[in-house]
Order: sequence, then structure tokens, then C-alpha cells
Amino acid sequence: MADFELTSRENHPENTIIEVGGAKIGDGNLCIIAGPCSIESEEQIMRIAKAVKDAGAQMLRGGAFKPRTSPYTFQGLEDDGISYLVKAGHEVGLPVVSEITDASQLRLFDDVDIIQVGAKNMQNFGLLHVLGKTGKPILLKRGFGATYEEVLSSAEHIMAAGNDRVILCERGIRTFETYTRFTFDVSSIPSLKSLTHLPIIADPSHPAGRYELIEPLSLAAVAAGADGLIIEVHDRPDEALCDASQALKPDKFASIVEKAKGVKAAI
Ligand code: PEP
Ligand code: MN
Repeated sequence: MADFELTSRENHPENTIIEVGGAKIGDGNLCIIAGPCSIESEEQIMRIAKAVKDAGAQMLRGGAFKPRTSPYTFQGLEDDGISYLVKAGHEVGLPVVSEITDASQLRLFDDVDIIQVGAKNMQNFGLLHVLGKTGKPILLKRGFGATYEEVLSSAEHIMAAGNDRVILCERGIRTFETYTRFTFDVSSIPSLKSLTHLPIIADPSHPAGRYELIEPLSLAAVAAGADGLIIEVHDRPDEALCDASQALKPDKFASIVEKAKGVKAAI
């Protein structure tokens, strides 16, 4: 398919493996990324970094630029947030992942190992072109109204601009169901795996919207062939400034990591 020259598996049958600071995504092992929805203070991200490292995470996540639906909610600590995240990652020895919401922020991401493009920006083509000119791996989240072809087209934009280190992420789509925050589309994992050589991870936190659903969604994603998971973890969920209801405590997160490894081994 000419429109998917760089992303299609037809042209590149082997799986792409992305290496970041000692961690690998797509090598056949599960890569677990965990941390809070947003960085709230230097102490908060340091505590959670230690907790997720101890629980078996390979990378630390945390948002400094939050694309919140309401302008009156916490928007992130911006420059300071990135500094605290990078410091916490260095301290515990984990590469870090953070979301960019505008190309003007790129200069702040020099020490961020993976740049996340959020669901709401999946088709921000100007941003994708700028990220295509960086040497950084890009974690591209599926838009909640995007088809598999549209996800792949967005990945193609990044690759066509010169960056072949793209990781796809299923994070749920909008349906008529309102009990969950979004509907986790487990079919996208095997479907995208057959269409593209790029690694695919799953975010069970945002479709669930409820911490008690994160374990079953995580295990379903791994059973469907996900290369990894990105999970929101907070040691004090009651105090979380963003996405509190889906925040998992570190002990529960640790038990999901163990079970997910068991599922991965079983398949
Ligand atoms: C997030 O990862 O915190 C986030 C905002 O995710 P999404 O873009 O999938 O909504
Ligand atoms: Mn979040």
C-alpha cells in the first residue's frame, strides 16, 4: 500500500524493536511504563518513581503539559515538571516518557527519552512533522475517534519526516457506553500488529477511568499481543490532581505486573 510505505508490515516483515536507555519495546518481552498522570511536585514524582521501579516498571511516565478538557483544572507544572521527572528518572535509573502538546515545547524535551503524542493530538500533523525531525522515539496514542488506518497514517507522517522510532498505543475509543471512560478496543492490538511492524502498547488506565478495571484490561491487552503497558500509578490517589479515579496504588500495580508477565509467558 503506497500510503503506508514506511509503516506497513508488507514492506518490513520483521518487528521493529525500539531501544531506549537500556529498555526495549517490541523485543518479545513486556515493557511496562508507569507513573502518575501528572507530575505534581518534585517529592511526588520521586516517591512514585521509586515505587514503580520497585514494582517492576522499565520506564517512568508523568505529564508536565496536560491537555485538560477544562481550562480551569490543573494544566501541569510545565518546565519545572519536566525537570522533576528527568531528575526522578535519573535517580532511580528509569528512562522517562512525557507528553508534548505543542511544538514550541520541544526544547524542554532534550532529556526526555520518549515523547508522547496524546490522543487529542494524534492528527496534529504540524506537530507530527516537527517530531519526525527529532531523533527521539515517539509514543503515538490513538485518537479516540480514529480508525486503524488513521493511526497508521499519523505514524507514517512521523516516519516520512525522517523518524522511524514510533510506538503505537491503544487507549480506548469513544462509544455509546458511559460506565467506562472510553471503550478499550482490544481488537486494535492484533489488527495493527498484522498491518504494521511498529510496536504496540496498551494504556488500560484511560479507557477504564476506574482503577478496579485496570487489571483485567491489562491482562486482556497482553493476551492480545501488546508489547507493553502504560499504567497510571499514584501512591496517594486521593490527592491526585488529575485522573484520580483511575490511579492505581503501587502494591496493586506490582501485582498486575506479575500477572501480566504470567500471561505473556503463557502465550
Ligand atoms: C495521558 O496519558 O495522561 C493522556 C492524557 O492520555 P490520552 O492522550 O490517551 O488521553
Ligand atoms: Mn491521564
